[in-house]
Amino acid sequence: MNTLIDPHGRSFSYLRLSITDVCNYRCQYCLPDGYQKTGAQEFLTSDEIANLVGGMAELGLWKVRLTGGEPTVRKDFAEIAARVSTTPGIRRVATTTNGYRLAENARLWREAGISAINVSVDSLDPQRFAEITGHDHLHKVLDGISAARAAGFEAIKVNTVLLRDVNDHELPAFLEWIRHDDLSIRFIELMETGSNKDYFARHHISGQEIKDRLIAMGWTLREREAGAGPAQEFQHPDYRGRIGIIAPYSKDFCDTCNRLRVNAHGKLHLCLFGNGGHSLRHLLQDRGQRLELQNTIAGLLVQKAPTHLLHFHQSGSTPHLASLGG
Ligand code: SAM
Repeated sequence: MNTLIDPHGRSFSYLRLSITDVCNYRCQYCLPDGYQKTGAQEFLTSDEIANLVGGMAELGLWKVRLTGGEPTVRKDFAEIAARVSTTPGIRRVATTTNGYRLAENARLWREAGISAINVSVDSLDPQRFAEITGHDHLHKVLDGISAARAAGFEAIKVNTVLLRDVNDHELPAFLEWIRHDDLSIRFIELMETGSNKDYFARHHISGQEIKDRLIAMGWTLREREAGAGPAQEFQHPDYRGRIGIIAPYSKDFCDTCNRLRVNAHGKLHLCLFGNGGHSLRHLLQDRGQRLELQNTIAGLLVQKAPTHLLHFHQSGSTPHLASLGG
């Protein structure tokens, strides 16, 4: 039974766990100057992660996504995945990665229990990919996606942030990719954060505009399945792949929120765009603290706001998504 329920009737089965703030990419809209070390860089240890996930799983949480920063920069990434995936109650472990180490490690990570993987690909043009991310890695990342297929991941999705006058003219190329390829692409609407306000003003495209463009090309919205995530899924009879739109600015986006976030320093964030987190780290030191950890999380859930305030350009205390785990 899931006892992670907030006052707005939402229950939380899904933890997005950042395991590092460090990212080796310099995505224009996230970390354009690269990762800057601030303060102590002591990220959660695998023991602390095991205590956190074990405690939350006993409350009914069953899915964990390892994210960052770039989660795979951690040398103990596979060990963390293995510990999380063997935690009683955890049924699905996913990760979101820029894919720079995927080609060589897909099999290892699959064996460590990761069954779903999201790989970020913001351009299918090698030069533009390099301009957006700071790395000439498109082919390496595409090889990683092929390796993930060969390794037998159950779900492979591509994350793409469509950006006006940067990559939005590539929409047809992304669609062509999935004409014969059974792949899911998630177009994520650019979100405003504390550090990308000018970039957001110049390059934001609304989720509605992306949907309108798809509908004009014959794509249709699929009916929402029970328990589905925030993406609105589109299909087209001439294409094998599917499109998902993640439109955080759309009406009622937060009504289906089923996720909690813990950052790489052990702070519980009730919302990606909330004002600060609540440290749990002191409760992750010993298995004997489990009840106190659980009571603390349940108590904090009462404070979860019904919705974010992005529409009012209030992005909370999150400077960029790398600091909290996108
Ligand atoms: N490093 C990993 C990666 O590149 O996928 C995981 C972390 S990254 C923060 C997770 C996702 O968030 C990526 O798909 C990235 O494109 C997306 N993202 C980062 N900042 C964003 C923003 N301001 N708006 C929308 N998506 C963003």
